[in-house]
Amino acid sequence: QKQEWAKLKDEPTMTADNNQVELAANIGNPQDVDGVIDNGGEGIGLYRTEFLYMGKSQLPTEKEQYDAYKSVLEKMGDRPVVVRTLDIGGDKELDYLDLPDELNPFLGFRAIRFCLENEGIFRTQLRALLRASVYGNLKIMFPMIATLDEFRQAKAIFSDEKQNLTKEGTDVADDIDVGIMVEIPSTAVTAPQFAKEVDFFSIGTNDLIQYTMAADRMNERVSYLYQPYHPAILTLVKNVIDAAHNENKWVGMCGEMAGDTIAIPALLGLGLDEFSMSATSILPARTQIRGLSKETMASFNEKLLAMNTTDEVIEFINEKTV
Ligand code: PEP
Ligand code: MG
Repeated sequence: QKQEWAKLKDEPTMTADNNQVELAANIGNPQDVDGVIDNGGEGIGLYRTEFLYMGKSQLPTEKEQYDAYKSVLEKMGDRPVVVRTLDIGGDKELDYLDLPDELNPFLGFRAIRFCLENEGIFRTQLRALLRASVYGNLKIMFPMIATLDEFRQAKAIFSDEKQNLTKEGTDVADDIDVGIMVEIPSTAVTAPQFAKEVDFFSIGTNDLIQYTMAADRMNERVSYLYQPYHPAILTLVKNVIDAAHNENKWVGMCGEMAGDTIAIPALLGLGLDEFSMSATSILPARTQIRGLSKETMASFNEKLLAMNTTDEVIEFINEKTV
């Protein structure tokens, strides 16, 4: 089977009915890029930059960040690299920032909320990204966006730093797409409004599921509620995809669900454009997608979304994809 997969390493990802999708990888470190290329990744769909900030005693400098981003972009060449700005808080803490403990860290001061309050830290990261942008195909996304105002604020800071660098005479790429993660239900529901202003969406199902089902993704006792194929989740996913396509924007998914063999047929039918997963899942996913018809899967959408339970959804997908 491994040999079969390897043959598809440099092939585009085509469905049985000749529709193309993109299979990208999630990474946490520049060293991960070799594995992405070896496994036939067509891009990086999520570069989690937290790891640059973790396991040390102080914030990473602009230079340290620039070196990391440049190295990833150079190695990926023309292939798109979606870098997520700092998503700290929740389960990821930074000792040296000494933030007060919170009763509900996952509902608290994290990610873009932290960055908009700590603008200096945010600006340093954006400058490093902008300076590295000339070395490849960079796209930037903001995590945990709950309101359009947050996106506008973050985007304005990005544009301001871009202008500052240009004024200083530093080269930056002119065509950097700026998008958001859709991982909060308010954003999934109001996706049509967001779609007019963002360049792309990436659906973060790891968080979207926990917030939609009100079930902590780390808590074993409520793990039975953590249901990726629940009709509520599929309905939100469809809403986001339709909203993006209405505005001619693309949509990816970078939560674990994107690499899940049961979810893939459903996501294909719902019209997902980019699937970002761990590098080792890419070739199995490409093999699976080559055997699926997008049009056939899309013909099941209405039925799938009207289902009552996760079990019904799973049974239906299994039945239709043997
Ligand atoms: C997500 O929430 O789906 C996601 C990809 O981000 P993280 O797992 O880093 O929260
Ligand atoms: Mg998340």
